Amino acid sequence: MEEKIYDTVIIGGGPGGYTAALYCARSGLSVAVLEKLAPGGQMATTGQVDNYPGFEEGVDGFELGEKMQRGAERFGAATLYDEVTGADLAAQPKRIETTGGTLLARTVVAATGASPRELGLPDEAALRGRGVAYCAACDGMMYKDKTVVVAGGGNSAVADALLLAKLCKKVYLVHRRDTLRASRVYLEPLKSSGVEFIWNSRVAGLVHEKKLTGVELEDVRTGERRTLACEGLFVAIGRVPDTGLLRGQVELDAQGYVKADETTRTSLPGVFAVGDVRTKPLRQIVTAAADGAVASKYIEDFLAQME
Ligand SMILES: Cc1cc2nc3c(=O)[nH]c(=O)nc-3n(C[C@H](O)[C@H](O)[C@H](O)COP(=O)(O)OP(=O)(O)OC[C@H]3O[C@@H](n4cnc5c(N)ncnc54)[C@H](O)[C@@H]3O)c2cc1C
Repeated sequence: MEEKIYDTVIIGGGPGGYTAALYCARSGLSVAVLEKLAPGGQMATTGQVDNYPGFEEGVDGFELGEKMQRGAERFGAATLYDEVTGADLAAQPKRIETTGGTLLARTVVAATGASPRELGLPDEAALRGRGVAYCAACDGMMYKDKTVVVAGGGNSAVADALLLAKLCKKVYLVHRRDTLRASRVYLEPLKSSGVEFIWNSRVAGLVHEKKLTGVELEDVRTGERRTLACEGLFVAIGRVPDTGLLRGQVELDAQGYVKADETTRTSLPGVFAVGDVRTKPLRQIVTAAADGAVASKYIEDFLAQME
């Protein structure tokens, strides 16, 4: 039996991936979206998206992810819930190795987004799910009525702290500077939130037995250390692009993002990068979706050249 060759295989089911899927499928291309977790990607972890146009009351991120998936599937895009573990992107057809088997495709769209940056502390990985978390919207309920620490000082850290303040007994926000880097929109609600700031400090160690029982804080000016008892630590210090599959196959920039301009074309013909994974000035749902739409135009051009 002849193996199916997809016109395009999209790695990642976030807004970038599903918009590329929608546009490609609507143009009559055969499309598979590979997603290792759930549709929606990062946006699925937030309860309220206010800046994606068309939803005057805002929209739940998970719901928006499902809507994007259904929108693409309506035109025939298939979702396969498998993790991509490797890919030969230079080959034609391109080979994509997944936990569910091998797929062949004429073009590939990298829509793998980004993952939370870790603190890099000993035992951090082992304590994931046992006190160490990276997403308040996803894991906050597990810490209802408990004491938690949020590490970070940007928008994600502040949004996490505000969300946790509604659930938890006590929330500390630990930041290595003496001012926040968060947008003004967050600052007013913070004042009445009950969140306690610990400035000029960093989380330097994790105190635990089987579960987290506290964090070791270091004053970055004096080096002085102390232990703060808590049941949860939410790490919100930024994100890193998920480019492991692409390394050595397409060009990356100095920060590890895929080098692709507005056309979404990478250094390798037939391979496209959309959304947070590519070099760009603003990483948002609407810009990821825009990339997906643009990618479809260049995918069609590439396929036309192959004929
Ligand atoms: C908590 C939070 C709140 C946010 N709030 C907003 C907001 O209000 N408004 C806004 O515009 N933006 C918001 N953002 C940013 C926005 O979610 C991202 O910019 C957007 O989701 C990026 O989309 P993407 O398609 O590039 O990638 P992602 O959303 O990161 O999706 C990538 C997908 O690829 C999958 N994947 C990765 N590797 C593999 C693999 N090897 N195999 C299979 N699947 C894989 C992942 O599981 C994931 O589902 C928020 C982000 C976070 C974390």
